[in-house]
This record gives sequence, structure tokens and C-alpha cells, in this order.
Amino acid sequence: MTQFAETTGTAVETETAYELTALDRCDACGAQAYIRVQVANGELLFCAHHGRKHQEKLSQIAHSWHDESARLLADTAR
Ligand SMILES: [Zn+2]
Repeated sequence: MTQFAETTGTAVETETAYELTALDRCDACGAQAYIRVQVANGELLFCAHHGRKHQEKLSQIAHSWHDESARLLADTAR
């Protein structure tokens, strides 16, 4: 039973890889957000540029780091 639950959890995580939309905006500059960082008192949104800029500092306090910046390549190709 435990094995089954673990397998299912992994599958769900992979399928919900893209959670950010055009309505999610970078907290630093207002551009579309591609990175979501969960911290103790809430969550922060960053564009790819500011996500990388603050990554070193934030990774020390972040509970989870959700990065969709790979989508930038796909969006630009259109
Ligand atoms: Zn930004």
C-alpha cells in the first residue's frame, strides 16, 4: 500500500508542472512570473531574471522552489 501511494504522488507532481499563468507577476518588476518560491510567511513570485538574481539568498529560506522558466523558450519560439 505504501509503495502504491508513493508512486501516485510522484506521477501527480510531474503532471502539474506548469502552475503559473500570465496573471502571476514578478514581485520585483511586474513581468510575467515563471518562478514561485514558498517561504514561511507566504509565497513570492519572480520572473526568470529576478528568480535567478535572488535564488542564492532565497534558497536558504525557501520551503519549495517552483521554476517554470523553461517555458520561456517555448513561448518565445511561437
Ligand atoms: Zn522581475
